[in-house]
Amino acid sequence: MRYPSAGPDGGPDALFGLDALDAAAVPGAGTTGQGGHAAEHGPEDRSAFRDSPAARRLLPVRTLYTEPAAAASPRGRQILARFPDAQVIEVDSHWRIPGLHGNEGNVERWVRVKGETLVLGEKKTLATRPNGRSADWIAPGPSNGCAMACAYCYVPRRKGYANPITVFTNIDGIIAHLARHIARLGRKREPNQCDESAWVYDIGENGDCSLDALVCDNTADLVRAFRRWPSAKASFATKFVNPDLLALDPRGRTRIRFSLMPAADSRLLDLRTSPVDDRMAAAADFLDAGYEVHFNLSPVVLRPGWEHDWTELLRQLDDVLPDRVKRQAAAEVIMLTHNRELHEVNLGWHPRAEEVLWRPALQQGKRSENGALNVRYANGVKAAAVHTLTGLVAAHAPWLRIRYAF
Ligand code: SF4
Repeated sequence: MRYPSAGPDGGPDALFGLDALDAAAVPGAGTTGQGGHAAEHGPEDRSAFRDSPAARRLLPVRTLYTEPAAAASPRGRQILARFPDAQVIEVDSHWRIPGLHGNEGNVERWVRVKGETLVLGEKKTLATRPNGRSADWIAPGPSNGCAMACAYCYVPRRKGYANPITVFTNIDGIIAHLARHIARLGRKREPNQCDESAWVYDIGENGDCSLDALVCDNTADLVRAFRRWPSAKASFATKFVNPDLLALDPRGRTRIRFSLMPAADSRLLDLRTSPVDDRMAAAADFLDAGYEVHFNLSPVVLRPGWEHDWTELLRQLDDVLPDRVKRQAAAEVIMLTHNRELHEVNLGWHPRAEEVLWRPALQQGKRSENGALNVRYANGVKAAAVHTLTGLVAAHAPWLRIRYAF
């Protein structure tokens, strides 16, 4: 498997510079207004990808904000030891960090801040929420925030503009909470689209677990915990290929969902992520390492030529994946949801993304409880697009079961 690249700019301190955006283009944008199991070894091994120069370029941490209790915890101490040159700044709460969260002045440095900054905190409220679409349950996640910078991502909205990874150091508490929840549920008696027999827990709602594994063992701890729970399965979506995860021996109890979109969209919108080709190429390695491998066809962005490019993507998927991956694969289809606040932030640093994301003629707004204006494709537009895409899947990747389209 190819290791993640250092990114288009190859700079010494960041994967992806803003100047690289100029190289990205979506056709039509702006023109219409619209093998066998891996040997068991931990990421702490010397050969771990996260200790490689490429990984250090992905996450060149220079500043570490930390709650005092998080810094004193075993996980916190491990993380501090991994980044001995970082400036450590104590904060009262990972939620309120002056100069980092909610500071519009950071917009110009948004992408860089994401890679150079880490936050350590404790997850105070441990709650599992019902879901029913992607998973049966949303677990309390091991992180919040992300060092990648997808232009449509909802994750930064909760913490202001630059939202680097916040690692929750009380991973033992999160796992103990999950153990109790799973024990209370007992066996899953009725199959559903989430899974035939296991209760599925999404463990990565507010971040990317593959990327988190560059920082610490939270993802590894969860994968290892789930392999002990025969009635449950972990699930997370990812846009980052981290070869360290191949060593975790999940024994079928973790579903990894590689997010896919046409390469032209990904180059414009999925900043700092692994190339889509790498995500596809990694699928067989992850299956052979003991993961269940699914796909997220998401977000589906409607712009001129989208049907053609999704056709190409599905044909490529059909060509690239071996039969053993196809036999167990399934997909979620998720149409783009956008947000006025994010639109306005993006105009300040990546306006070309907004040429495809912000399409008022196709979208309808819905005010959320906190007053934010979320934007989705209008009902008729969305229904037609879902119909088209499911038809393309049936024609070009008929082995790909669609678990749900939303
Ligand atoms: S990888 Fe996921 S969590 Fe990270 S910025 Fe992209 S969409 Fe958001």
